[in-house]
Amino acid sequence: MKLVRYGAIGAEKPGLVDLDGNIRDLSDHVADIGGPVIDPQELAKLSAIDTESLPLVAGETRLGACVAGTGKFICIGLNYSDHAAETGATVPPEPIIFMKATSAIVGPNDDLVIPLGSKKTDWEVELGIVIGRKAKYVSETEALDYVAGYCTIHDVSERGFQTERFGQWTKGKSCDTFGPTGPWLVTKDEVADPQNLRLWLTVNGETMQDGSTSTMVYGAAYLVSYLSQFMSLMPGDIISTGTPPGVGMGMKPPRYLNPGDVVELGIDGLGSQRQTARADI
Ligand code: ZN
Repeated sequence: MKLVRYGAIGAEKPGLVDLDGNIRDLSDHVADIGGPVIDPQELAKLSAIDTESLPLVAGETRLGACVAGTGKFICIGLNYSDHAAETGATVPPEPIIFMKATSAIVGPNDDLVIPLGSKKTDWEVELGIVIGRKAKYVSETEALDYVAGYCTIHDVSERGFQTERFGQWTKGKSCDTFGPTGPWLVTKDEVADPQNLRLWLTVNGETMQDGSTSTMVYGAAYLVSYLSQFMSLMPGDIISTGTPPGVGMGMKPPRYLNPGDVVELGIDGLGSQRQTARADI
């Protein structure tokens, strides 16, 4: 299933995308896409619903982030060896983890707001893992049993805040709108191999990133298991698994986003996003 949350900001309703690409409303079946609703067992029940019986959502509608109630937005740093090289870093001996504030989460096509004082707002397309069931001390072999599905993530990053201001990375990753999530939460039964997905990103139509999750250093199952040794992963938590090469800070000279720039990004099977950058007020 491709699950969505649609409607105005703060008033999103649950839905799914049918085989024709139309959104169908799920409000009669679930309150939202998140929490206990996305437990793998509950998702199996949802998938038994005849989609033709669900109300069709007519016309254009805004999409919200594809999962509600995210308590933790955990990001993995330098998880593609060729991206590590472009930033002048070496591949870490264990996953680098950092947090993105959940207040950064927005819909896939909402505006990308360049924060006050920013000169280095940069892009990163990433595979997102959405946790469906509490995971604590799980092994790598059982790790994916705790996953609801996958989604496209834009890990927007302010490089000055991230690397030139004192301390670690969180403040360069957490600005409002720096976490577009979706368009869809694609249940894991529709993703044959999370380590074989093409992911891409363009700025004003020019390709910047074109990679594959096959070159990730630490794969999805490993990351879920690894993180669960340190903290309980809860339904709705998101793990953003790192970005392939082609970010602005790796270019010579570096290149960053300006108001009016249009960023498009996507992952095969998981859908695409489109944001227009604008200055904060
Ligand atoms: Zn990232």
